[in-house]
Amino acid sequence: MANPSLLILAGDGIGPEVMAEVKKIIGWFGDKRGIHFDVSEDLVGGCAYDQHGTPLHDKTMARAMEVDAVLLGAVGGPKYDNLDFSVKPERGLLRLRKEMDLFSNLRPAQCFDALADFSSLKKDIIAGLDIMIVRELTSGVYFGEPRGIFPDNEGGRVGINTQRYTTDEIRRVARSAFELARRRNYKVCSMEKANVMESGILWREEVQWVHDNEYPDVELSHMYADNGAMQLVRWPKQFDVIVTDNLFGDVLSDCAAMLTGSLGMLPSASLGAPDTNGRPKALYEPVHGSAPDIAGTGKANPIACILSFAMALRYSFDLGDEATRVEKAIEKVLADGARTADLMGKDGGTPISTTEMGDTIIAALDASL
Ligand code: NAD
Repeated sequence: MANPSLLILAGDGIGPEVMAEVKKIIGWFGDKRGIHFDVSEDLVGGCAYDQHGTPLHDKTMARAMEVDAVLLGAVGGPKYDNLDFSVKPERGLLRLRKEMDLFSNLRPAQCFDALADFSSLKKDIIAGLDIMIVRELTSGVYFGEPRGIFPDNEGGRVGINTQRYTTDEIRRVARSAFELARRRNYKVCSMEKANVMESGILWREEVQWVHDNEYPDVELSHMYADNGAMQLVRWPKQFDVIVTDNLFGDVLSDCAAMLTGSLGMLPSASLGAPDTNGRPKALYEPVHGSAPDIAGTGKANPIACILSFAMALRYSFDLGDEATRVEKAIEKVLADGARTADLMGKDGGTPISTTEMGDTIIAALDASL
């Protein structure tokens, strides 16, 4: 059988630096576990613009559609700030998400015990936290028509955006959340504003329909999104999988992610519909950007990108045990005190570099065998 295929788009700024550490881990899986990937690499973002005059070449887009999973570093940087909107680095990423139809955005909020002090919440509220927010990514108020800024009848202006969801759009992201829950703790909480929005009523009814007809084995609850925001900071461990729309998901996933501390620790996955091979179209990327302020200094924390690869192992390649192996290795190095500069606490100490963090994780993987 052919090896699973990966397209690596390291991008700009610290993207290539953190991705170099992921490549070491991919190599480790080939050498030590006999798990091989067909890896190809290409450009996205500012570096693609420099080379081709576009942030994503058509050939790169075509390759992304063919492979089993795409791993992306980060895009953007001050050099590209004044480019026309149509060729800004972020457009490359948006094109990937749109053409791959990645409607389900997975943002885990997981707290490694060694970093519990980094949270703005008390340690007992956060220690051991492991929740997953599933955000609908391709519809809702960010895309709905009509939209725009128009003159009103009184000589002023009116700004309009439209929250719009169809049955199919809600059902497919709900399925994605229920499938995830079956790999975790069989618990989904759906969040909307059914008290004040018709689209929220439809959301609630359709999620309930998918539950009753297809996933009765999973526990489903509903919560208004404003209450959800409060509950996330009051007692986040009450949740397992949260499913919500594009707008609420944008806010709630950032809120949940920050419960755990540093931007350098946060992975994400965006999934589409399953291909003929049963694998969903998939893009894995750290939540952080290209961090131009530290690019080239060896200070970047590679863990978010490595955890994104672990998500690929779990969700694209059905290698959940190997994903856990990577996560445990990271937990071990953090517990042993390894810290990149962004993870230095008040007590001081000497930070290690991006490459040293990668090497330390490889050593922990070796020790796991
Ligand atoms: P950023 O995430 O790049 O950086 C915010 C802060 O966090 C910076 O101080 C940075 O040094 C730090 N940081 C981020 N990742 C880190 C890591 N792995 N290790 C250590 N420290 C880390 O956000 P920004 O500064 O607002 O944006 C910089 C550029 O990145 C902009 O061009 C922006 O458009 C782009 N961006 C891209 C993405 C993406 O590619 N998905 C996401 C956000 C921002």
